[in-house]
Amino acid sequence: MFSYQSREESGMEETDPLLKQTLSLIIESGYQVDARALTFLKSIVNTIEIKDIIKGVIEELTASPDKPVLISEEFLKSRITKLLQTSEQPTFTENTGVFKPCATDIKSKIEVLYNPADHVDFDGSIQVHLKYFKDRLTKIEKILRERMDVKDAILVSEALKRPLRSRTKIIGIVTEKKERKNSVFIRIEDCYANILVFISHKSDKNLINKYARLFIDQVVCIEATKIKDDLFVANDLISPDIPDRKTNVSSEQVYAVLTSDLHIGSKKFLKISFDRFINWLKGKEGSNLHKEIANKVKYLIIAGDIVDGIGVYPNQEKELDITNIYEQYEVASKLIKEIPESIEIITIPGNHDATRQALPQPAILRKYAKPLYDLKNVTMLGDPAKIRLHGVEFLLYHGRSLDDIIGAAPDVTYLHLEQEITIAMKYLLKTRHVAPIFGSKTPIAPMPVDNLVIDSPPDVLHAGHVHVFGYENYRGTLLVNSGAWQEQTEYQKKMGLIPTPGIVPIIDLKNMTVLPINFLSST
Ligand code: FE
Ligand code: ZN
Repeated sequence: MFSYQSREESGMEETDPLLKQTLSLIIESGYQVDARALTFLKSIVNTIEIKDIIKGVIEELTASPDKPVLISEEFLKSRITKLLQTSEQPTFTENTGVFKPCATDIKSKIEVLYNPADHVDFDGSIQVHLKYFKDRLTKIEKILRERMDVKDAILVSEALKRPLRSRTKIIGIVTEKKERKNSVFIRIEDCYANILVFISHKSDKNLINKYARLFIDQVVCIEATKIKDDLFVANDLISPDIPDRKTNVSSEQVYAVLTSDLHIGSKKFLKISFDRFINWLKGKEGSNLHKEIANKVKYLIIAGDIVDGIGVYPNQEKELDITNIYEQYEVASKLIKEIPESIEIITIPGNHDATRQALPQPAILRKYAKPLYDLKNVTMLGDPAKIRLHGVEFLLYHGRSLDDIIGAAPDVTYLHLEQEITIAMKYLLKTRHVAPIFGSKTPIAPMPVDNLVIDSPPDVLHAGHVHVFGYENYRGTLLVNSGAWQEQTEYQKKMGLIPTPGIVPIIDLKNMTVLPINFLSST
């Protein structure tokens, strides 16, 4: 492995004086950086107070019992994350210096790739439902066929015509899962015919696991052997998934701040913490390190639940501070208005916002949120929405179906959601659908087309809804759940869900690094 020893030895010419100083500091202290860590250092050197961080890293390494010589990218990243989350926390004080947001010099580059229509006609008839599922099947069948191992697959009605004992790959929609004493069954259909696929309990463990992770209404490819007219034995289950690929990045350094679930109007809204967040964006709060980061923020994305709404769940009024929806949006816009105009704000609705509940949701209705529409730097989109910022594709989705996933998947629970939230989000990419399960908690508008299919893998999948912060890179897609600004509600308490409010992930679009800052106030 290549490691950075010195400019002369490695033959690398570092021209940035700050990078030179940083590397000298590392080398003089008896440490080295590997190639990836060097690339990472280059990308952050002019963004944050690198010297302080490196000093901290060296102190930590010197104190550690095994004293590693090489500083890796992972170690640097974890150190920065830790610094931003903890040690700087008590130093969050009023800034006396002059704040010059660099983001004013960055030209905004927002492209809206998909935004749900404001109005759709749907009649809820059986015909429309059939067309909807046909479209879901056709779209995901096409995605499945992009896989090398699925190219030669056939649809269910064709599989029925195949001879006995033939082994084929069959694409269909899962309509039923049945568990028997010694076996399980899956029924799949293609809008014309259906077949039953059998899996014995004695089958390969991997296959049983795949069965447990299969959702009703998702499109799947099953490799199976025909044993009777419409009965097959499964050999393998293939979900569409996303291919492993290189993430698109911005050519210039620019930060996007992701958040969601403000729940303004709720008694549990964490106003003090949210004010600190706004003041940080204004350059009025935080350490120098935090201010350097705020300097580079060009975008703020809010993934739904801006307000707590009215009548969203039984007895909600007991937990409301503001019982008028217009007033909730007025208060929200007053807070958002405080954010510097150089920051572009992009919002989508959540299930607490004032718009149609069925997905795809149109943007929050103008008649309720006029003060937000009046703000020049706010773009109001629907849910889900697809945008591109400086070449980086974002799929913004509030995350209502995460409840259905948590209810159906064997490896995600509300109890351990902090560790498992990205597992839940991964299922959306694996099934290539924003709401794979139909007719559960997530209402879907019956339309002749399925606009909830994830037709191309995004660079960032940003969701909220479950009020738990988490992130992970999955096959080149950065999954982020942006947490919340609301304390645990009675409803969440009953579910055993412990929210992690006040943590805000900041994404550096140049290298897709996630910097989480904790704004949660102890007062
Ligand atoms: Fe919420
Ligand atoms: Zn929600």
